[in-house]
Amino acid sequence: MLLARDITELARVEAMRRDFVANVSHELRTPITVIVGFLEAFDDMPAPDPAEFRRHIPLMREQTDRIRRLVDDLLTLARLESEPDTKDETVDVPALARRLAEECETMSGARHQVSLHVDSSARLIGNSQELYSAFANLVSNAVRYTPAGGRIGIHWRPEGPGEMVFAVTDTGEGIEPQHIPRLTERFYRVDRGRSRATGGTGLGLAIVKHVLQRHQARLRVDSTLAKGSTFAAVFPAERVIPLVTPVAAAAAPRNAT
Ligand code: ADP
Repeated sequence: MLLARDITELARVEAMRRDFVANVSHELRTPITVIVGFLEAFDDMPAPDPAEFRRHIPLMREQTDRIRRLVDDLLTLARLESEPDTKDETVDVPALARRLAEECETMSGARHQVSLHVDSSARLIGNSQELYSAFANLVSNAVRYTPAGGRIGIHWRPEGPGEMVFAVTDTGEGIEPQHIPRLTERFYRVDRGRSRATGGTGLGLAIVKHVLQRHQARLRVDSTLAKGSTFAAVFPAERVIPLVTPVAAAAAPRNAT
């Protein structure tokens, strides 16, 4: 019995590995085929017209960018999997949220109304590079899946007993409930064409899930089709450094006497 269970688990892991390799190969093959197509077409011309060549550069560049983004995300995932623990430090989340709000404005290019809501000066014990990468993925998704004219909010607030939440809200296209449990699977997309058209790799939320797991945090997704979504990273009290606010600090000696 035990042996039978072991083999089932092994077979499942092996099937997942095969799927992953097939997906990566497929994702890489498409842009490579486009670039090779152009190169072959020009190679076949006795005297390629430089102006014509130049005209196709943006599309070739777009495809190489797509390959680069995919490889970057794969390397990030590989790093997360190969390093067992986070290298913990104090992460100034309010400062990180401000930086992300600025980056959000840049990414949006004035197409959205971006707002920042930092309701706490609490910090986190964690890895700032990893948390930046996870939060930036949530922000980038909000920009990419929210049509022009929509609103995007970046929040840092307390919740529950000692917990803290980093959340990104949008008034974008939203997600049907049946997709939500699968969003963090590698290469799972609700709309493949839309993801690609906006530069998605299908790995963003897989990275988010990994980073949050390493911080004992969880991802909560609330979404309504055609209304918008909230992606919230909920951090447990053990990860939170509740900074003493200036008001509380001033009050402390008085209370002591
Ligand atoms: P991608 O690179 O395709 O955006 P992700 O892993 O970041 O990959 O997200 C997986 C899928 O989840 C996306 O393809 C999209 O369908 C959906 N999604 C993620 N964020 C949002 C959002 N803010 N609004 C609507 N759909 C989203």
